[in-house]
Amino acid sequence: MTSPTPFPADLERPGAWADILKRMALAARAAGRDPRAVTLTAVSKQQPWEAIAPVLAAGQAVFGENRVQEAAARWAGRRGGVELRLIGPLQTNKAREALALFDVIETLDRPRLAECLAKEMAGLALRPRLYIQVNTGEEAQKAGVTPGEADDFIRHCRDRLDLAIEGLMCIPPASEPPGPHFALLAKIARRNAISGLSMGMSADFEIAIALGATAVRVGSALFGARAAHD
Ligand SMILES: *Cc1c(COP(=O)(O)O)cnc(C)c1O
Repeated sequence: MTSPTPFPADLERPGAWADILKRMALAARAAGRDPRAVTLTAVSKQQPWEAIAPVLAAGQAVFGENRVQEAAARWAGRRGGVELRLIGPLQTNKAREALALFDVIETLDRPRLAECLAKEMAGLALRPRLYIQVNTGEEAQKAGVTPGEADDFIRHCRDRLDLAIEGLMCIPPASEPPGPHFALLAKIARRNAISGLSMGMSADFEIAIALGATAVRVGSALFGARAAHD
């Protein structure tokens, strides 16, 4: 039998990171999927550098941040080989800075932001990969287009604004089983011929992988609990 771990077995590495990768690979295999088709986004927001450094040193290359300023400060001078993904809401007045900082923006969530990004991208010749956030639970406090608006918004981004959409992203309601939300996101992606699915966090990434996640966003299970507010 081949090893289920997608990294060299001789590497010195933090236990939590190795454990998450192993659980991801097992979940992928159980679903009949190739483990290499699922990316781990290590959510480094609000984490001290001492927690991040060993994971980075072990070989983790994809990191998620939810605030532009915080990410810029944390990763200044440390970007070599690192892919940064924005997973928090983006204000239009920070769009230009976000475009310069992030390789992937996962929170394209409204027409005004799409128009702003399209305009800035034209001037800057930057082409970050884009994910549309879908508010699958239609929660008032959460960002994202509703499932009912998603098809039109995707079409608007592609056809009117000429934005390439790599994937969809969701954060299910904390109080509900996440499975139906992941399945709904996968269904919207399928009918729009979108291949990327950013879904699943510390508590539910295995369920998300079973339902087609191509990227899972794991913070606390990897680095430990974050300080206070979120
Ligand atoms: C903070 C955050 C995560 C990570 O959450 P954990 O439960 O700590 O894994 C994932 N996705 C988004 C959008 C986040 O803001």
